[in-house]
Amino acid sequence: MRTYALVIVDINSEQVDRRFTYAVPAGMDLAVGERVTVPFGPRRLPGVVMELTQETDVPAEKLRPILARVDDEPVVLPELMDLARWLAAEYRCTMAAALRCILPAQVRANLKPLTRLAVRLTAAQEDALARCKRSERQRELIARLAESPEGVRLADLAPAGAAAARALEKKGLAEIFPQSVRRRPYEDLPDEGAQVRLSPGQENAARRICAALDGEPQAFLLHGVTGSGKTEVYIRAVREALLRGKGAILLVPEIALTPQMVSWFRARFGDVAAVLHSALSQGEKYDEWRRIRQGEARVVIGARSAVFAPVESLGLLIVDEEHEGTYRSGTHPCYDAREVARVRCRLQGATLVLGSATPSVETYARTLRGHNVLLEMRERVAGRPLPAVEIVDMRKELIAGNRSMFSRALRDAIEETLLAGQQVVLFHNRRGHSSFVKCRACGYTVHCPHCDVTMTYHSSDETLKCHYCGAVLPPPKTCPACGSPFIRRFGVGTQQVEEKFREEFPAARVLRMDNDTTRGKDDLVRMLTTFRRGEAQVLIGTQMVAKGHDFPGVTLVGVIMADMSLNLPDYRSEEKTFQLLTQVEGRAGRGEKPGRVVVQSYEPEHYAIAMAATQDYRAFYEAEITRRRRRLYPPYAVLSRLLVTGRQESDVRAEAELLEMEIDAWFRRDAARRRQMIQVRAMEAPLSRIRDEYRHQVFVKLYAAGSAGALEYLADLARARKTPGLRVELEIDPPSFL
Ligand code: ADP
Ligand code: ZN
Ligand code: ZN
Repeated sequence: MRTYALVIVDINSEQVDRRFTYAVPAGMDLAVGERVTVPFGPRRLPGVVMELTQETDVPAEKLRPILARVDDEPVVLPELMDLARWLAAEYRCTMAAALRCILPAQVRANLKPLTRLAVRLTAAQEDALARCKRSERQRELIARLAESPEGVRLADLAPAGAAAARALEKKGLAEIFPQSVRRRPYEDLPDEGAQVRLSPGQENAARRICAALDGEPQAFLLHGVTGSGKTEVYIRAVREALLRGKGAILLVPEIALTPQMVSWFRARFGDVAAVLHSALSQGEKYDEWRRIRQGEARVVIGARSAVFAPVESLGLLIVDEEHEGTYRSGTHPCYDAREVARVRCRLQGATLVLGSATPSVETYARTLRGHNVLLEMRERVAGRPLPAVEIVDMRKELIAGNRSMFSRALRDAIEETLLAGQQVVLFHNRRGHSSFVKCRACGYTVHCPHCDVTMTYHSSDETLKCHYCGAVLPPPKTCPACGSPFIRRFGVGTQQVEEKFREEFPAARVLRMDNDTTRGKDDLVRMLTTFRRGEAQVLIGTQMVAKGHDFPGVTLVGVIMADMSLNLPDYRSEEKTFQLLTQVEGRAGRGEKPGRVVVQSYEPEHYAIAMAATQDYRAFYEAEITRRRRRLYPPYAVLSRLLVTGRQESDVRAEAELLEMEIDAWFRRDAARRRQMIQVRAMEAPLSRIRDEYRHQVFVKLYAAGSAGALEYLADLARARKTPGLRVELEIDPPSFL
């Protein structure tokens, strides 16, 4: 009987998205999950063995043999094969694309481990010494090699030593061999290995997680206020997992922003910790991946894609700052790492911990429905208080004749803090291309009449547009609410904040941290270290400064304009604003001295701003979920679109309009479908042209409950469209509708 292999060939195309059968040559010892080279038409291509069988329907004359094995071992863990199948089904991608998520490019590129020449003894020490009586050099080297059975690098020997090594090899007493070297990232991070005693809140959370490691695996939401010490809980839980012989993965939103977390884990876990970092060289990535695959590294820290790290017997998967948008992939397949984590934990019997001070509305809603166990840490460690927050009404500043971007309260607070020798963080979240129109006298912002979202100013044709329904308005010359002429576009960036700050406080040492100042590989780490060491007094930055950092010297946080993220054309803007403010406020008072926060706002009464000031997550959540229910936004509705792109604008528009009619008709066919539909509408996409491609969309809003059938229909519809020169893609609840 012959053996046959069912292989997924590494081509990301729906036409060949199935398993092809190949004959396994006699003597080739294959396992499921291994990579092989197969003939495919006239080509030779890599593929992954999905299944081995003894029988096949494929006629013998059509069967071709596998050409070669690529590795010595299955690169895909069996559990991850199941995960790949789930990924392909859930995110409607080909199996080849799903496998590409699981096998990073460095692995697929067949990098070889980096090697250096080394020498080691092959004979017993006494025998070797007995045969080298005359050469003192050779005897010295033998003694040295006897102490390092793993070998000594030739480069580490003096030239004479290297000559001695060759002499020993000639005598058959030693061998010179290529030794693989690990390329270790972050080798020069400082050690912070001090042990801490957990607070009662941390102790309780850790105990509950450990109980799940011993018994039934569970999913937890660890909701702890800023400064409650979530990291120590993670470290304890990871240690307990390791003690039980299990592996662990810690996902962080952006590893470049968390060098501190990395150093803590390195200090506590040493070489069993691997770091998957996008800034690593190809070789470093490959080495870390292999260390994990071979079980040398049992703890993995990394961003989104580390959810696929090949950790065997996974016991614990932690998603830190689970509310962060970076957990959703922006490229096809557009997976959500939190969802992948959930499924992976189920497949491998692992415990899931989602941690945040400001959980996403969706996660919290799921938790209240019983999908996650809620663990709360309501207090900061060591009895430290949450910072006192003062909200400054910027409309009153204007009335009082203060046109500066610093309110009197903030300016006074900065002065006092600098005089006391303490540190200041100033946060200003200027987002790139979109800006909005706001009245400086009354705070009025132009909203879409149909959608309850802020309209975006388009400088190209000087109009205001709604990114949800396509409505267009001319920008008002005077405020429609109060008649003031001080209604204008807002677009102040961190650079202006820095300039104004230097004018007003010329003596202070200032750092600015944003995308422009952190281009270089190490800029960010350097800046964070400089600030932590107290070598600068003031850190001005975008949301980068809000992310999880622990700056014990900071006693004042100033928010230049809290409304900034409130006025984005996005139903999540309230949630994002609350999260950002709560997080940035949480940077104050994490050390010995208590912190204070000054928040400047034109809409101080807005619930997202008011409730962030009291750090009252639960109250915010109740207000927000009520709004979502009334306005029909997720989790009550599903927002999706069919995005049509192509080079001929008229064709793109016509296709979108055709699709709109077809979808509309489909939903109107019977009562059940009609009940599912909230809105179907074709329009130009907010970014109407990218790289000379025109973009139109059919926006489809559905009730969430029971939407699976309709989404399936939309996916099939998108797949079936094959108009030449046009692409149609379905996006379900995308991170943005640009
Ligand atoms: P969170 O992520 O919850 O905001 P961190 O994990 O960054 O908080 O911890 C905040 C600070 O408290 C850190 O400086 C950390 O070293 C310190 N810390 C954590 N646990 C303890 C503890 N049990 N006792 C004293 N300090 C602690
Ligand atoms: Zn006004
Ligand atoms: Zn609208």
